[in-house]
Amino acid sequence: MTSSRRIIIGFSSSGDDASSSFVKLTCPICTRRVLEKKNKDVCCGKTWTIERKNAYEYIDLEISRNANSFREAKLSGTSLFETPIVSNAYERGWRDSFAWAGFPGKEKEFDVAMRFVKENTNQRQQQNQKQQLGEVVLDVSCGSGLFARKFVDSKAFARVVASDFSENMLIEASQFAREENIDATAITFVRADVGRLPFETGSVDVVHAGAALHCWPSPTQAVAEISRVLKPGGTFVASTFLDPSANLNNDDLTKPFSDFFRDAKIGTGGAFNRFWTEQELKDLCQMVGLEDFKRERERQYILFAVKKNSVRCEDDDEVEECDIVLSMDD
Ligand SMILES: [Zn+2]
Repeated sequence: MTSSRRIIIGFSSSGDDASSSFVKLTCPICTRRVLEKKNKDVCCGKTWTIERKNAYEYIDLEISRNANSFREAKLSGTSLFETPIVSNAYERGWRDSFAWAGFPGKEKEFDVAMRFVKENTNQRQQQNQKQQLGEVVLDVSCGSGLFARKFVDSKAFARVVASDFSENMLIEASQFAREENIDATAITFVRADVGRLPFETGSVDVVHAGAALHCWPSPTQAVAEISRVLKPGGTFVASTFLDPSANLNNDDLTKPFSDFFRDAKIGTGGAFNRFWTEQELKDLCQMVGLEDFKRERERQYILFAVKKNSVRCEDDDEVEECDIVLSMDD
């Protein structure tokens, strides 16, 4: 016998309203809120510090920070970006070299990313907020902070969070921000693992990942984390590399080649963990509740945007208080 059963999952924005303009950081171990001043009543207090080195500052919320011997197994691509040499070179030519794959240049890439975000941000939300596109944009794997600085300049968000696993990249990002006199009150640097994001569930309006997805050790875990931290209706926008068969511009025809490239780990230029097909990226997003896939692509470059399932309510004014209703057969 099959009957329909409704399961109600409450979904409301937690935390006090007064701090809603600020980033809701959580401890990567106990997952409770951490505040700007260490407060053990809120969090276990064991895992995070505010690091000050070379006159820059970032909040370290990466759990292996104090481990002497343990290191997560990583492929060469990821580790490369933790070296001072590559961190230093990244914005001084390295990033522009992606033009070989079809990357259109940072200005154009940023413009398209912003256009996708605007298209996804509903008009009502825009009217109700002081900021054009939301309170918090999170730039994961921010590298030298190229796009994080552009988000600050856009003034479309109250707060920009620039996060990376690599300490050396955060040093670069912080130095660039200083050199360009970026408003320090508008940006927060956080060291974090993209597979274990230290942000409260449903607290971020937009997550951006520029040329990063192909470097992550576990894209499934990372994109699931991104989906978790996004507000309902929030946007994930990312650029990455398609596999070499994309140059033929016929995905159906070239699927066997793509399967071969993926299984043989060929075509990733040695520096990266993997390249993609468009359909794989769609699947990856859909698997973790990110929908309405839209993209621009050119040769091996793709920039795509997806939206977190938004809660449909009869009264739009109460969208934050609304419940998600699932139907389940038993
Ligand atoms: Zn804790």
